[in-house]
Amino acid sequence: MPRRRTPHRHQQRTQQELSETSLGERQLGTVVTRYGAKLDIEDEHGQRHRGTSRRKLDDIVCGDKIIWQANKAGEAVVVERLERTNLLSRPNDRGHAKSIAANINHVIVISVVKGHLGDAYQLNLNLIDHYLVAAENQNITPVLVFNKVDLLTEEEFERLGRDIETFKQIGYEIIYTSTKTERGLEPLETQLKDNTSIFVGESGVGKSSLINKLLPEIDVKVGEISELSGKGKHTTTTTMLYHLPCGGELIDSPGVREFGLMLKEQMSIARGFREFQPHLGLCKFNNCSHMHEPGCVIMQAVDAGKIEQRRYNNYRRMVDALTEV
Ligand code: GDP
Ligand code: ZN
Repeated sequence: MPRRRTPHRHQQRTQQELSETSLGERQLGTVVTRYGAKLDIEDEHGQRHRGTSRRKLDDIVCGDKIIWQANKAGEAVVVERLERTNLLSRPNDRGHAKSIAANINHVIVISVVKGHLGDAYQLNLNLIDHYLVAAENQNITPVLVFNKVDLLTEEEFERLGRDIETFKQIGYEIIYTSTKTERGLEPLETQLKDNTSIFVGESGVGKSSLINKLLPEIDVKVGEISELSGKGKHTTTTTMLYHLPCGGELIDSPGVREFGLMLKEQMSIARGFREFQPHLGLCKFNNCSHMHEPGCVIMQAVDAGKIEQRRYNNYRRMVDALTEV
């Protein structure tokens, strides 16, 4: 039996419908944050407005480009969501994808080799591959940042250069930074300028420290909104879009910061390995998994030293992990 609408809810509906007939002009905007059902929207002049979205548009996230209209109460009502270039999500407690942010074109992948898990030199190249595959699949340009280089001896710094040589060879931008000596902040700002970026990396690598360097004073408008919500400036747990003084936007999301980008079932691991791309489609079998088939051009390239053995091994590991049930 269908659930009967309570009179109260019916009344709410009617009121909503009434107010929607008297909405203001349609305007373009960007969602800068979302707290449950409430949204903060920035209009084309940089002005921020509190708002909500129509019920059927309940998947609006930070970074979404939207059309909104003012209602009589002065609130912004999102009436339409424009097409997204991508949508980042992270697994929730039950392992389902939870949407976090949209329309990101740069991901800053932060790693350290020291000052994270003790004093020994330690570099997790496979984790970097993982971030890269997710980024490539979402058409997001990754930038590799190695932070805390102030802790490295000259020998260790040279070793790092050798360890990440492959990433450089296959065309990734690499920046060495230190929030202590401020090394590398300018090249990082150059990468952030003109883009909408997100920072990812394990806990303790210095994401918050770098963000604080780039955003010494958070946009006044954000400050106002933080006050309204009763939340502190940088202690917020919600995903927020910030304008960087150097230009460009930063979407800061505690969820994405920790979990990185989610590898989804339908993602192509092979496509995520940039150096595989020129070879894709040339294997003997057009559905080649590049794992065991005869006539596999990828495996031939590995044997010929054109594709690094470590990257290929990690490709296999990632395919196995994704197909495991
Ligand atoms: P997050 O968890 O990735 O946000 O990392 P934090 O920004 O909280 O930094 C973790 C610790 O590393 C803090 O104690 C920072 O002071 C320290 N840290 C951050 N950047 C650097 C750096 O460039 N050099 C050194 N030596 N320590 C840093
Ligand atoms: Zn193949």
